[in-house]
Parts: sequence; structure tokens; C-alpha cells
Amino acid sequence: MKDYIKCCKAFLKDTIFPIRCPYCEKVIARDECACNTCKAQFPDEPVKRYAVGGYECIAPFPYDGIFKSAAKAFKFCNRGGYAKQLAKVISESIIQAQASDDFDIITCVPMHRKRQRQRGYNQARLLAVECAEILNIPYADTLEKYKENLEQHSIKASLRADNVRGVYRIIDSSLVENKRVLIIDDIITTGNTLGECARILMKSGCKSVSCAVLCAVTSN
Ligand SMILES: [Zn+2]
Repeated sequence: MKDYIKCCKAFLKDTIFPIRCPYCEKVIARDECACNTCKAQFPDEPVKRYAVGGYECIAPFPYDGIFKSAAKAFKFCNRGGYAKQLAKVISESIIQAQASDDFDIITCVPMHRKRQRQRGYNQARLLAVECAEILNIPYADTLEKYKENLEQHSIKASLRADNVRGVYRIIDSSLVENKRVLIIDDIITTGNTLGECARILMKSGCKSVSCAVLCAVTSN
């Protein structure tokens, strides 16, 4: 009887709140990360980039095609509900890069609280929390964005290093001392944002910092 009730609940959940493919919005099974058509477009190997300062950054996708559209919708079009499916592919690329045993804490690139109020969510934090659960690594908010700046995507690449300098600070350095930290963001473009976050974490006593994102811009 208990199993029957569980089955009915799962059926109702799937009917009322179906899980959709983040790249084409087709309904998919609850444990899938995409439909088969979109999965066929997934690259075989993760993209590897470096944030400013030389911090390694892994991404399952280039910032292109269906991946670019999904990343944009996730960030700007109130599609925060796709976090679990998107985090699955980020986590798989971290495992594929054989890096998942190398972290004590997962954290995210923070958003200024005023902007987070406007958007309703921090897309990087949604991804980071889901990746932490999938990889069974503790999640912690370690950084705060305490100064507002222009959005990185809205300004020229040459101005982005100055734009992020001094806008983040550590929340509590005892959280990160001697820890191997993985920072998660949605997109790496010039690598200035992740580089600045990594610099502050290292200054606060981290043992090492690496990065993972959903999409990497492969040519600037
Ligand atoms: Zn699809």
C-alpha cells in the first residue's frame, strides 16, 4: 500500500510539475538531464579554461548553440528550475576531469543582494548547491559581493578586470582556511570574475582553488 501511494505521488508530481529538457523544453524523465536529441549534441570532452591567475576551470559545454540559449534562459528568463539538470552535466564533467575527490568545499560566485532581489535567484548558487549534493561535497557561502558594479557581459573585455576588482570579500576565513575549494559560476568569458573570487579565497588561506561552470566562451 505504501509503495502504491508513493507511485501515485510520483505520477502526480510528474503530471503537474513535469521535468523538461533545459535545451529544448521537451518533457523528460525525472532522472534525466536532457532529451536524447539534445544529449546527442553534448561534446565528448569537457572544455578546459583558466580563470585570471591561472585557476583551472572545467565546463561541460562551449558557450554556443543550444548550450548558450539554455545558459541565457537559466540566467535571465526565470528558468532557475533547470538547476538540477544543468548541475548534473557540470558534475559529470568534474568527474570526467577526475577532479571530484579534490575538493573540501563547493562555493559560488556571489551576486549583490540588490541584484539578487531583482532577479529572484543567484543562478551560480543554484548550480553550486545542486553540484554539492550530487558530488556529496559540503556547500558553503564563502564570499559576499558587497559593492555594486556593472554586469560583466555589458562592458568591453578590456574593462572587465577593473570592474570586478575589490567588489567581493570573504564572509568568514575560518570556513576556507586550508581547504580545497571549488567555485561554481554559470559562464566563464574572460575569467576575470572567477579569478578575482579565487584571489580573495587564496588570500584568506585556502589551500587550492579550482572552478567549474556550465559554459565556457572559447574565443574572446
Ligand atoms: Zn532537448
